[in-house]
Amino acid sequence: MSWDFETDPEFQSTLDWAEAFVREEVEPLDYIVESAYDHEDPVRKALIPPLQRIVRERGLWATHLGPELGGKGYGQVKLALLNEILGRSACAPIVFGSQAPDSGNSEILARFGSPMLKQRYLRPLLDNEIGSCFSMTEVQGGADPKVFTTSAVRDGDEWVITGEKWFSSYARFASFLIVMAVTHPDAPPYQQQSMFVVPRGTPGLSILRNVGMGYEPLGTGYEAYVRYDGVRVSNDHLLGEPGQAFAIAQTRLGGGRIHHAMRTVGLVRRMYESMCERAVSRFTQGESLARKQLVQAAIADSWTQLEMFRLLTLRTAWRIDKHQDYRAVRGDISAVKAAMQTVLHDVTARALQIHGSLGVTNEMPFVKTMIESFVMGLADGPTEVHKVTLARELLRDVKPAPSAFPSEHIPALRAAAEAKYADVLATLR
Ligand SMILES: Cc1cc2nc3c(=O)[nH]c(=O)nc-3n(C[C@H](O)[C@H](O)[C@H](O)COP(=O)(O)OP(=O)(O)OC[C@H]3O[C@@H](n4cnc5c(N)ncnc54)[C@H](O)[C@@H]3O)c2cc1C
Repeated sequence: MSWDFETDPEFQSTLDWAEAFVREEVEPLDYIVESAYDHEDPVRKALIPPLQRIVRERGLWATHLGPELGGKGYGQVKLALLNEILGRSACAPIVFGSQAPDSGNSEILARFGSPMLKQRYLRPLLDNEIGSCFSMTEVQGGADPKVFTTSAVRDGDEWVITGEKWFSSYARFASFLIVMAVTHPDAPPYQQQSMFVVPRGTPGLSILRNVGMGYEPLGTGYEAYVRYDGVRVSNDHLLGEPGQAFAIAQTRLGGGRIHHAMRTVGLVRRMYESMCERAVSRFTQGESLARKQLVQAAIADSWTQLEMFRLLTLRTAWRIDKHQDYRAVRGDISAVKAAMQTVLHDVTARALQIHGSLGVTNEMPFVKTMIESFVMGLADGPTEVHKVTLARELLRDVKPAPSAFPSEHIPALRAAAEAKYADVLATLR
């Protein structure tokens, strides 16, 4: 039996290198690169590729991929430890070749793309020479894909796609979009939709507007509201088989969710560290905040939430490695996904509060990170839906009580205990 919380020394030295590299070389980029997804941004062009080269030379490029696609084939536990470090910086996933949505999209292309699609897009996407977009959510609903209406109709060797998609992240920088569309409206609900690759610039494809986060000025942002107006793509742009979109989306989401959680550990830790620094730096009524018991409680609660979340994430990563099947760990992934929002929210809120007026300003990261906690509770499915998934898994094999009284009903348990030890009890009475 093994039960070990230590990292092997060789991998620990890799992590130490990654941590120093991210803190010293990558974190500064977050303050000068407007969007690491914009390949045309001159600051990005000058600063990010040289760092990507260093990561490649170090053998840490796209470590989520198997060796057949140029990754290390690291298991999820190693990835979790590395992603914790990358979670500290918005630019780090791009510098290490593991950013969403390209990471999931490259997996889809590799597994379900036609030879033409792979030849045209897979290598440049894996090398981060181009970007991509996942275009699934619609204005009338995201959490329930059964309400999507964007359709694709077969016309000879082509498909004609019509509809609108909402929150297609980074569409403006993408060389292609992966779009989900209804192709078989009469099939059972989860077999009605198919997935297609739509190259940028295809006639009929347009961005109605880009939407920003609450802390960004109106008219800016990276979440695209996209229209597909009779967009035509040939049949070799279909991913997998017709009607397979839900199954394909699931393969992508399992890994995506746990990788978000791994990075969130790093972001929570950054918020926690800044709260601790403030507590020992700020004085009021003749003593540091660190000596106030309610501040101590905030720090103790934050550390405990962070460490519980980290252990749950690592355990889930370990279970993925063990089972090699995301379906077998669905409940675990949902638990991590649901916890992620609460932990990031709570720790950030406490860090913000302890920073006082400075905490609510745009000179500190807390407001952005608070919104990020809500993003974590929405993107890849709302927290509520994940709690439902988890509860279903937990309750699946639970048996009803044998009678109207529950199994923990003390009179029955006491009677059973008395019966079991009747001989001994008789000698004592
Ligand atoms: C920053 C960000 C990036 C995103 N990027 C992409 C992207 O690249 N591509 C893409 O296609 N989509 C993307 N999304 C969309 C995301 O997938 C959806 O926001 C998500 O699926 C929820 O859909 P919705 O926003 O329409 O909310 P709704 O489906 O309207 O749900 C709203 C709320 O209703 C409640 N609710 C919903 N369903 C249930 C239920 N079953 N039980 C209980 N309560 C429920 C929850 O409180 C939920 O938050 C992104 C979202 C964000 C915030």
